[in-house]
Amino acid sequence: MVSLQQLAQQAIDIQDACNLSGLAKAWGEVQTQLREVMPTIGTQEMNHHPINKMWAYKLYSLACGEPFDPLSAVNFEGAYTWCQEIVARTKCRFCKGDEKATACECI
Ligand SMILES: [Zn+2]
Repeated sequence: MVSLQQLAQQAIDIQDACNLSGLAKAWGEVQTQLREVMPTIGTQEMNHHPINKMWAYKLYSLACGEPFDPLSAVNFEGAYTWCQEIVARTKCRFCKGDEKATACECI
């Protein structure tokens, strides 16, 4: 079983990582390990745990840029709208989201 100190060291080490997909998979495993180390921890405590904050910050910064950088690419509203548009297209009964379809005006 991994120790809390090892999880804390890992949270520090991943700050230099650059592969979001690899980190996202590893973060899932960290949840299991944190639970093993602190079996009585509540959901809120788990959500706000410093180790989770370190991971969340890293994933956020890879996806959106440094949070406090004024040039950060974060645009939640734009990303949300993009997702809604993609979902709406796949529900279109004419093209079903196929961008190569020509007989539809939803795209
Ligand atoms: Zn369509």
